[in-house]
Amino acid sequence: MTDCLFCKIINGDIPSEKVYENDKVYAFKDINPTAPVHVLLIPKVHIASVNEITSENAGCVADIYLAAKEIAKEMKIDEAGYRIVNNCNDDGGQTVFHLHFHLIGGKPLGWPPFTERI
Ligand code: 5GP
Ligand code: ZN
Repeated sequence: MTDCLFCKIINGDIPSEKVYENDKVYAFKDINPTAPVHVLLIPKVHIASVNEITSENAGCVADIYLAAKEIAKEMKIDEAGYRIVNNCNDDGGQTVFHLHFHLIGGKPLGWPPFTERI
């Protein structure tokens, strides 16, 4: 998709700090990290959000989790633990509308990730 920030990162039109790539997945450091390890994993095909996952394209989610596991091991946070997060649409806090998963770790992470209770 021409007007998508993450498609431009995949194409190399916008620079990024790559940490992993295969034919289906691209992973790079978040520009505004919230933890010592904060990597974004994206499918190379443009999918706007989880709402656009179908039985035809859902395989990219498995590809992303397999890549995340490898990156966590490479970055030596696999034993201590980490979190994989997806934000969907406005209430979920999604700001870039190309499906992505945050791999966050390198310190103990608080839970829940929001402060208000219902
Ligand atoms: P979201 O809020 O949509 O779940 O996450 C979008 C993430 O993309 C944010 O954590 C933000 O810091 C990151 N981000 C936004 N623009 C850029 C960019 O140009 N380069 C990189 N590396 N990360 C970005
Ligand atoms: Zn895109």
